[in-house]
Amino acid sequence: MHFASSIVRPPYEGGSAYLQITSGCSHNACKFCTYYKDAPFSVSPESEIIEDLKEMRSYGIPFPRIWLQGADPFILSFQKLYRVAELIHTYLPFVKTIGGYGRVDSLRNKTADQLKILKDMGYSGIVFGVESGDDRILSYQHKGYSADEIVPQLSKMDEAGMRYEVIFLSGLGGKGYGPDHARKTAEIFNQLHPDRVMISGLTIFPDTPLMQDVKRGKFQEATEGERILELKEFLQDLKIDTLIDATNASIITSIYGRIPERKQDMIDRLQRIYDVYGEKGLRRMRESLQAI
Ligand code: SF4
Repeated sequence: MHFASSIVRPPYEGGSAYLQITSGCSHNACKFCTYYKDAPFSVSPESEIIEDLKEMRSYGIPFPRIWLQGADPFILSFQKLYRVAELIHTYLPFVKTIGGYGRVDSLRNKTADQLKILKDMGYSGIVFGVESGDDRILSYQHKGYSADEIVPQLSKMDEAGMRYEVIFLSGLGGKGYGPDHARKTAEIFNQLHPDRVMISGLTIFPDTPLMQDVKRGKFQEATEGERILELKEFLQDLKIDTLIDATNASIITSIYGRIPERKQDMIDRLQRIYDVYGEKGLRRMRESLQAI
């Protein structure tokens, strides 16, 4: 199999088979990102994809789902994605769905009608790392699109009926920006219909441009308490029917459940944790995670 980087996937895609059709990230400029630095963006040649599909067929396992590797395989044109699906169904006829990560700008080169055709070819459960609906933050973090582009682009997914998920990156605005970040992002997500809202917490890694900003005093990290209150505000403002999934290691207070049904439970849990632990206790929780 050809993999230019280690496997990157959401936790629940652990049972999927992995295929590389692009490597790296077509944007590769977000200030906080450490992913795919070992692999410049490139599109896999068809011969390489076929070689990998033949190898997957040789395993004799009837994989129902393929998770495409790379930061944004969905950036490929409609024609290329259609051809990839044709190849997958030819070599692995048991595959039912195809997922992968996308960026908001991965949708610029596709119409809703084309997305509908791709949906019929099996594309489903595309995860968009939207991160924020706040222009100041998107621009500061070099996300490469503005907030007013998010709804028009992702609405094409709704119009096509293709299932998708979005990511909210809490703490992305830094100290003092939590409530605004939460409100503006919820306002955008309220106009969409994602199956799931995945929530991650900003981690500032060494050797990132964001860490340089921290060292120069240009960016101050949000405190643990601020992050919990930001999350609470986000949940309070989110009015859609979706699954909230904040269960990854970047979040010290995991929450998981459908809204609106479990919304109040999750809000109460966050408030309880904030009241009981306080800033110091939350910091200790974070440090104990880092020590693992
Ligand atoms: S789009 Fe994703 S993978 Fe690419 S630089 Fe930004 S955070 Fe990293």
